[in-house]
Amino acid sequence: MDFRNRLLIDGEFVDALSGKTFDTHNPADGSVLATVAEGQTEDVDRAVASARKAFEEGAWSRAVPADRQAMLWKLADLLEQNAEEMALIESLDNGKPLGDARGDVAEAVACLRYYAGWATKISGRTVEMSRPGPWHAYTLRQPLGVVGQIVPWNFPLIMTSWKIGPALAAGNAVVLKPAEQTPLTALRLGELALEAGFPPGALNVVTGDGPTAGAAIAAHPDVDKVAFTGSTETGRLIVQAALGNFKKVSLELGGKSPNIVLADADIEAATSGAAMAIFSNQGEVCTAASRLYVERSVFDRVVEGLAGLAGDIRLGAGTAEGTQMGPLVSAEHLDRVSSLVQQGVDGGARVVTGGGRHGDEGYFYRPTVLTDVTEDSVVVQQEIFGPVVVASPFDAPEQIGRAVNNTVYGLAAGIWTRDLSAAHRIAAEVKAGTVYVNTYHSGDAALPFGGFKQSGWGRELGEEGLELYTETKSVVMKL
Ligand code: NAD
Repeated sequence: MDFRNRLLIDGEFVDALSGKTFDTHNPADGSVLATVAEGQTEDVDRAVASARKAFEEGAWSRAVPADRQAMLWKLADLLEQNAEEMALIESLDNGKPLGDARGDVAEAVACLRYYAGWATKISGRTVEMSRPGPWHAYTLRQPLGVVGQIVPWNFPLIMTSWKIGPALAAGNAVVLKPAEQTPLTALRLGELALEAGFPPGALNVVTGDGPTAGAAIAAHPDVDKVAFTGSTETGRLIVQAALGNFKKVSLELGGKSPNIVLADADIEAATSGAAMAIFSNQGEVCTAASRLYVERSVFDRVVEGLAGLAGDIRLGAGTAEGTQMGPLVSAEHLDRVSSLVQQGVDGGARVVTGGGRHGDEGYFYRPTVLTDVTEDSVVVQQEIFGPVVVASPFDAPEQIGRAVNNTVYGLAAGIWTRDLSAAHRIAAEVKAGTVYVNTYHSGDAALPFGGFKQSGWGRELGEEGLELYTETKSVVMKL
């Protein structure tokens, strides 16, 4: 079996019908890493037809839950067995440090195993009717059908596992589109899925651009549901395209997550936690804590500590020994991050550390701490999706939980304190899908994940994640 960077459709690796290809780059030096098939509308049509067949009449719809469980578990085993290769591909394609990529593979394995377990545990319930009978009423939980899944470039393999795990466990057939910047691990995973015994059409992988292949999936009349992770702007386009056949939509979008440090916190832990919360994965994390709010009496100490940690971070190619932060994913993204920081500085922000590109090869950006910002400034309101944090002092801890809600986003929030009551009060007040207390970025396949407000629709992971991929059918019989 050899995927040679082609589309996975109906159990075969094939070229795009148009013969078109695109290059994916190594962001550490801009070199071409691989040339990949560029799927177009007609390729999406083929993939959807294959998924439809697998769902309606093929082996996937007939697979009993125990077989789906075994296949998903096998896929997780194969991923684990090929972990080193997968991590290397991910690090080269995305830029992230190899050690981080190894962690990503482990997380994807855990997610696939978690949902393998669910495949045999999805069921309906019997319902007692409240009006006079005799009745026999119950619910069935059934798969939706053909599911289109569109993922971003920051955690290509993890995002893929979050998408395909619950969808396949519930019995849907999938058409997956990885991001054009990072298509390689999804294709290799598709190859492993064939090895694991998934029947043709259960999992199709179409690589290509967003406005062509991605848009074709979102608009396709024979796709029953589209699940999307990416920017809020693209999320809007997905919703509009999905309206054609009212396909179900779930969205994981952007964030501008606040991290709140109260004066009574373990300041050392809060400071290193704040650094990890914004700088890990180059800051290219939807839940990155990009707004830091620190109680005034400890503000200078935290900012100084954070700037020190930022300055110590070793930048380099993801595959180089000792690298702690890799390059941003692309030249366009480097331009975007640079331009947003510049707008902040033009608006009066002070650069405590960083604030510019690192070196002149590859797309590296220095870990950056900004202060002296107003709440309406672009660096406080807009998602930068890079290693850039804005820090602001506050005076009234009893008001901070509500005060941090003043953005359109609501994905995550952090709280650092030893005061249990304050922690729970603030956790209840912040509008965020996930709240971390004295920790950050501590997720789990069992823990629901998603956004309030413009950070998304629905919850992935956990039992809730299955709801995105099942319909509930009520059956009523008069006895
Ligand atoms: P993006 O929206 O440009 O791209 C994401 C995916 O959508 C890619 O596969 C892309 O090809 C596709 N796409 C682009 N235009 C499309 C269109 N018109 N129709 C259909 N598909 C289209 O986002 P990005 O720049 O790749 O990723 C960064 C963004 O993703 C950030 O805003 C970040 O917050 C968000 N993100 C969110 C989460 C989350 O779970 N909430 C996770 C990771 C990233």
